[in-house]
Amino acid sequence: MKPFHLTGTDAFGEEMYLICPTCGFEYVHPIRVKVATGDGVTVIENKETRYVQRETAEVLQAKKNCGVRILLEYVCESGDHGNIILQFHEGITYFEHERLPELKPEEWRTLWRT
Ligand SMILES: [Zn+2]
Repeated sequence: MKPFHLTGTDAFGEEMYLICPTCGFEYVHPIRVKVATGDGVTVIENKETRYVQRETAEVLQAKKNCGVRILLEYVCESGDHGNIILQFHEGITYFEHERLPELKPEEWRTLWRT
């Protein structure tokens, strides 16, 4: 385990951007955000935001770690698809990454793009 130190975001010209965790490509589309607590998960997608009050996989993980689980689902323009995850546990916010099955381009549904 090693720390990730985010720097340089408050100075003009030093903005950072996300690259694909799998291939390093810079064209990464956010397609879904989930925020899971022990009770349920809020899901933000292209056309809607909803709250699901049941034990989804994310809710069970949040419960197991006694902390919020925040997932940014992305797809990169090379076709990689995955979740970048922030998991809060005992005062520390951990970074995780998981790969998901490839999507067809028509399934990307980038957030807030028409
Ligand atoms: Zn990629």
